[in-house]
Amino acid sequence: MEETVVDETLFAQLDPPVLAGSGCAACGVVVFPFAARCPACASAAMEQRSLPTRGRVWTWTSQSFAPKPPYEIPESGFEPFVVGYVDLGPLLVESRILGPVVIGDEVELRLLPLAGGDISFAFGKIAE
Ligand SMILES: [Zn+2]
Repeated sequence: MEETVVDETLFAQLDPPVLAGSGCAACGVVVFPFAARCPACASAAMEQRSLPTRGRVWTWTSQSFAPKPPYEIPESGFEPFVVGYVDLGPLLVESRILGPVVIGDEVELRLLPLAGGDISFAFGKIAE
């Protein structure tokens, strides 16, 4: 099965992975995923911004039951996973998190293969 990125607008580059947000030239707000208009001041002067690849776990929870479609349950069956927000400095990014983690852990961006063959992203603890 050929692996493809679940949404090409999520990434500025894949190797090594870097997420693509957008920054507002008018007010400086940074958002993810890419937005054509600024959610803070409605300016259309949004520019692609490569986001930091390391941050800290801001909060997290465990997804203990299978989400609704389009989530695809792996052939091996559903297993609970961690989701949360990672503080990248200019913004918080909602993400899968390769747990276990505690709030404040330093994490870095990783590519995440999904059950259907697509590639998404996750943050995982930095190997010491
Ligand atoms: Zn703005």
